[in-house]
Amino acid sequence: MNGDRSALVNPSDRMGQVVLPSLIDGKPQEVISYGKCSSVIASIHGLSCAACRRYLEELAARAREFAEWEGRVVIVSAERSGGLEIPFALLLDSDGQLKRAARIGIPSILIVDRWGSVQLRHEAREAHDFLAPSEIEDWLRYLAIQCPECQGEVF
Ligand SMILES: [Zn+2]
Repeated sequence: MNGDRSALVNPSDRMGQVVLPSLIDGKPQEVISYGKCSSVIASIHGLSCAACRRYLEELAARAREFAEWEGRVVIVSAERSGGLEIPFALLLDSDGQLKRAARIGIPSILIVDRWGSVQLRHEAREAHDFLAPSEIEDWLRYLAIQCPECQGEVF
């Protein structure tokens, strides 16, 4: 950790790790990928909510682009439900751990960079006004080129 470089982000907006069980196999998984890639966390009501489900399908259609920009998408469901094949981690958060750790409501989108800093909180609210997948891709592209190791260097 470098003190000067941390000035690039608001240090008070770092969030702690949240570990939640997978809805698929019950194994605990980390919500944030520290040091590896940007994390896009979609907090949803559950797969039984038609609007949330539709949004996940939109995200799934962009999975390859997200991966290209080193973005890991994690779906955090407030209820235990299944029946949708998506190329993302699908985790269960029945007691609101993410909500408290990230200070977000449900449904919402959270973008956290690889250093654990919250870059975006997007409350979709009851209208399910989620961030468009193309905007998420823009964020991931932006974060992928934000390399603190290279700040100030001339190419
Ligand atoms: Zn919903």
